[in-house]
Amino acid sequence: MDTSPDSLSLAAAEAALRPLPKVSLHDHLDGGLRPGTIIELADEAGLALPFADGAKLGAWIAEQSNAGSLSDYLKPFHVTGAVTQTHQSLARVAKEFVQDLAHDGVVYGEIRWAPENHLRRGLSLDQAVDAVQEGIEAGIDDITRTGRKIKVGQLLAAMRHDSRALEIAELAVRHRNDGVVGFDIAGAESGFPASRHAQAFDYLAAGFLPVTVHAGEGDGLESIRSALFDGRALRLGHGVRLAEDITAHSQETGTGFLLGELSQWVKDRQIALEMSPSSNLQTGAIAPWGTDLKDHPFEVLYRLGFLVTVNTDNRLMSNTTLTRELAHLARAFNYGLADIKTFQLNAASAAFLPLDEREELKNDIRAGFDGALLATKPAVRL
Ligand SMILES: [Zn+2]
Repeated sequence: MDTSPDSLSLAAAEAALRPLPKVSLHDHLDGGLRPGTIIELADEAGLALPFADGAKLGAWIAEQSNAGSLSDYLKPFHVTGAVTQTHQSLARVAKEFVQDLAHDGVVYGEIRWAPENHLRRGLSLDQAVDAVQEGIEAGIDDITRTGRKIKVGQLLAAMRHDSRALEIAELAVRHRNDGVVGFDIAGAESGFPASRHAQAFDYLAAGFLPVTVHAGEGDGLESIRSALFDGRALRLGHGVRLAEDITAHSQETGTGFLLGELSQWVKDRQIALEMSPSSNLQTGAIAPWGTDLKDHPFEVLYRLGFLVTVNTDNRLMSNTTLTRELAHLARAFNYGLADIKTFQLNAASAAFLPLDEREELKNDIRAGFDGALLATKPAVRL
């Protein structure tokens, strides 16, 4: 066990944050498998893996994901994709996903995944969605039996390099009363803007199904513009590179910031930024500003009034949890519980839920955090 002061204070911050009610908006199903489950599923499917031990496999995947670019980061998904091609395996990983979220204190989560990547062993798109829904409901039942509460929705993603976006949009609308809460496009961003899938986005807009788009992660401002204009995105997947539209300038009275039209729009319309600190470091999304968490534009965007939210992206690849991401940020930027509470309220506001349910969620978050804030009076820094 690592007993360095840094490690201990991270663990202490995690212990304080884990029980608090949290909202997870950006978390990929195939990026959140338990290593032990991968080993068992690979065994059942007759697939060879580099390691037969869960801890070693998990460490290997995390290391592979650390190569510094989005395309390298996406490589371990070949492993998780290969073992999730059947009804049983999809239902199992979805169930465990819900259990893991609840264990981390998540009270509302959106699980995003790309059904088109799970058809190699004969499932249809609808069957794949049904399998995941079955797993989600089994996971929720488990959690409810322990006296806890969790609500979970599916976000269906189309692969942006492929040509099935309209089909996936239709699939999402077809399952909207059956667990699906929204739509996304995922995969390599550069060279594959939202405009490529305009037909799918038009269809979704006509059907009033909420949309989030990965943008401003592996590409810059034009991709974000296309997500908002062509995709009519209500949220941005990461959106980190929106900060390229913000310039710092020195004034006699101090440093100020100048916002371009695009960033001003995102701020004024309160379009949520689904940022994922560890993943953003690993994929190089924050490379224009540096290579350390302290260089992440999260802090500037937060201080300027953007609707910032904190997410995991891929818990397995980034060896993380929502609690850990919050603890990392708290340590990097000296955030206290009041800040962490704001991030959860932001995420609840941006959830793809009916307004009344979002308000209810916000009340639950306020109740959980206010209790903790009172218990730590006067305000204790994490
Ligand atoms: Zn993502």
